[in-house]
Amino acid sequence: MMEVLGRASRVAFGLLFPPQCALCRRPGALLCAACAGALPPADGRRCDCCWMPLARGGLCRHCAEAPPSFGALRSPFILDAGARRLAHELKYGGMTAFAEPMAQLMIERAGIPVADVVVPVPLHRARERSRGYNQAAMLARHVAAGAGMRSDAGAVRRIRATAPLVKTMHREERLAIMHGAFAARPQRVDGLRVLLVDDVATTGATLDACGTALLAAGARSVRCVTWARAD
Ligand SMILES: [Zn+2]
Ligand SMILES: [Zn+2]
Repeated sequence: MMEVLGRASRVAFGLLFPPQCALCRRPGALLCAACAGALPPADGRRCDCCWMPLARGGLCRHCAEAPPSFGALRSPFILDAGARRLAHELKYGGMTAFAEPMAQLMIERAGIPVADVVVPVPLHRARERSRGYNQAAMLARHVAAGAGMRSDAGAVRRIRATAPLVKTMHREERLAIMHGAFAARPQRVDGLRVLLVDDVATTGATLDACGTALLAAGARSVRCVTWARAD
């Protein structure tokens, strides 16, 4: 029904049916304070670089042996429970309105580093066309706006379509798939500190490949923030 309503009607519809919490359906906000407070935090001891859980402080074995292109990744939540549901709704459910409250929580809980430009991990053109939007770009735009920075969704392009990474793939397999999948535009990133944004990080292979492209195009540094981390 929403598709056939004009903009004015949609505004009226919004007044008649105020937003309700994505997780508990209570009316008021898109994400109520109680549900936001119950999201599973990615806390405890973690790798200083890739944010993977560790038994002790410092760097994990992978980051110590072969440091990724990005200086650090931070994610406020574990990809579980409500954090997983929100990521899923944003990515597959067309719930783009969730990007703003999600980005706000990323700013509040992840400790956003200062950057010159906020850049989303791009989708391949064909994938973005079929989905209608890039969920990472939505998050990047709102993270930038909320943290008083500039975002640039065109700084990196996905130059090769890649098969979706699946849970059972090993780290090496993921790195091989993502290698060379991205290219950054030097005139948009040269000399800049980049904050790379994505919805979910697993092994960090996608962020690593994207960061490599950014550094190759002259970016001064790359740090990453994602909504959630799959441990
Ligand atoms: Zn709620
Ligand atoms: Zn690590």
